[in-house]
Amino acid sequence: MEKILISRCLLGHRVRYDGGAHGPFDQLAVWQAEGRVVALCPEVAGGLPTPRPPAEIPGGQGAQVLDGQALVLTQAGEDVSAPFISGAQQALALVQQHGIRLAVLKSRSPSCGNLETYDGSFSGEKVRGQGVTAALLSRAGVQVFNEEQLAAALEALQALERGRSA
Ligand code: SF4
Repeated sequence: MEKILISRCLLGHRVRYDGGAHGPFDQLAVWQAEGRVVALCPEVAGGLPTPRPPAEIPGGQGAQVLDGQALVLTQAGEDVSAPFISGAQQALALVQQHGIRLAVLKSRSPSCGNLETYDGSFSGEKVRGQGVTAALLSRAGVQVFNEEQLAAALEALQALERGRSA
């Protein structure tokens, strides 16, 4: 059975920077009942507390953080790149351990965002880009969706399972 990596905050776990969570999402509940969910909060796994100061990537490109070309910073200027990278590496380790090819990660997060992130100005401005974990998983060939793309994620899952049984 295909497993799916899911951001813990989308499963109702109160791990967001502000202590909040998201959901419930019916599709995620179905996948949990099927036993295919592997849950991770990269920032908490990386050692950050909850609640924690919000952080952004100047320029919004998680791939640049992985390559040492950009930092993840809090509004006070604290460099939190190391825990963000550690969390991404733990996500990659889980993906490899479980043979995961599909992830549903929280949109617009500096770790989990798959299409957009905030631009580092803490003004709500968004740019096209991926968070640190989403970027690392994409590099590893994982298809990364967000909670607004659950129909597309389900289609991708069905395509993978058809390929498995072919
Ligand atoms: Fe954790 Fe990702 Fe959710 Fe942020 S978006 S709380 S890093 S799971």
